[in-house]
Amino acid sequence: MSKEKSNEIPAFASIQNYINGNFHNPIQDHWIDNYNPSNGEIYGQIPNSSKEDVENAYIAAKSAFPVWSQTTLEERSRILIQISELLEANLQRFAEAESKDNGKPISLAKAIDIPRAASNFRFFGNAITQFASESHESVGQQAVNYTLRQPIGVVGCISPWNLPLYLFTWKIAPAIAAGNCVVAKPSEITPMTAYLLGEICTEAGLPKGVLNIVHGLGTTTGQAIIEHQDIKAISFTGGTATGAHIARVAAPMFKKLSLELGGKNPNIIFADCDYEDMLDTTVRSSFANQGQICLCGSRIFVEASIYEKFKKDFVEKIKDLKVGHPSEASTNIGALVSKPHLEKVKDYIEIAKAEKGIVLCGGNQVTVKGYENGYYLEPTVIEVPNDECRVNQEEIFGPIVTIMPFNTEDEVLQMANKVKYGLSATLWTNNLKRTMRMSHQLQAGIVWVNTWMMRDLRTPFGGVKASGVGREGGFEALRFFTEAKNVCIKY
Ligand code: NAD
Repeated sequence: MSKEKSNEIPAFASIQNYINGNFHNPIQDHWIDNYNPSNGEIYGQIPNSSKEDVENAYIAAKSAFPVWSQTTLEERSRILIQISELLEANLQRFAEAESKDNGKPISLAKAIDIPRAASNFRFFGNAITQFASESHESVGQQAVNYTLRQPIGVVGCISPWNLPLYLFTWKIAPAIAAGNCVVAKPSEITPMTAYLLGEICTEAGLPKGVLNIVHGLGTTTGQAIIEHQDIKAISFTGGTATGAHIARVAAPMFKKLSLELGGKNPNIIFADCDYEDMLDTTVRSSFANQGQICLCGSRIFVEASIYEKFKKDFVEKIKDLKVGHPSEASTNIGALVSKPHLEKVKDYIEIAKAEKGIVLCGGNQVTVKGYENGYYLEPTVIEVPNDECRVNQEEIFGPIVTIMPFNTEDEVLQMANKVKYGLSATLWTNNLKRTMRMSHQLQAGIVWVNTWMMRDLRTPFGGVKASGVGREGGFEALRFFTEAKNVCIKY
């Protein structure tokens, strides 16, 4: 295990593609500016990789596949766990890079994002040694059937900016554990930790070409990956519109797809819940990572009998949250990821007002002393007149939540399900029968009861409706990254 490196990301950091175990400039020498959201300054450049770069990444992956797919599970597992340990040893360096690139508080990157990326490698390093397939004896026919789970070949992994390394590795780790070779693209808005991951993989002894990381815009680099005839599967996390586009491009080539898309998740609070626990968790589920988590509970429904009390207590707690520079330990809310995103989120505050929503707290851009050009926004709570207004229906993906009261279980269930998305839902109640009735009827891939974002990596993760197709996590991810083949032998 190597020692923790204490060197910071240089003030001006340009990064390169990681292809066949080496770092390369983009062939066409096209670059994109990378902004630091905490101060609005350009602090580096990243390749805007072309089709040719993606082709080189593909060739490297294809060449590595015959050996990697035949490498023993123990050896693959050992390398994945080594990557995990190196990430842990480099926690500070990775957390600083993530925070600088994304605007998230460094405390969050250190406690959640980077440790979770390390867990992804450790988890799938272990899971692959436990992954089994079925066999069936066809009684009376003197035959036995068994299922092979074979790696697909070269697969594509494309990830978003909100949990950069956490989600990038959530795809890469199961893909390589299962014996595939990968062409991966992180978000062009937050590429830095993916770049650093290349170094770690080399140090861990991952053979050249097993993982190839190309940087660039979705419309150039991402498009070249999804259009590639021989990249047989795409695991994508990002917006619903992008997911629909990928599905359209991939369908004629019969690519295997896993699409993890947007959300507009209900947080349903009944009067019989454990109030203090609910209140603290609801602050987190509303504003963690500046509300830029696909699982945030952005629509809060509160039983009418405790609505006024909740409103007062919640707003009081929100007013205590400190918006500040991501590197300060006392910061609760860092910077939003980019200027266009800040503008989009701010527009929703105006839309809410026009729709007769009442801003109970927040609603303003914040100027942080010394970082006046950073993208800071107050955590904002909007009381909405009905569940059908735009701020209650459309994904905002920022520090804005809506609240409104409800009277009955049926009424809230209907409102909770009346959006196009279906990623997660949170339920606060101590009534067992209600818990079961509601959990079974909520249209969501994940239901949390009396908690939020508690994750066990063995469980299936994904959404329904416009929140996606397919499941990640545990053996579901290993199933996605393998083809099942049945062999029938007559004896
Ligand atoms: P996005 O769809 O704009 O981009 C996601 C990735 O796709 C980026 O790497 C981007 O470069 C790439 N991309 C864009 N156009 C492409 C194209 N034509 N071909 C191939 N790749 C392309 O999403 P975003 O703004 O980065 O992320 C925010 C969205 O992600 C939100 O909607 C959020 O809910 C969603 N998200 C979902 C989950 C989940 O697990 N369901 C998790 C995190 C974020």
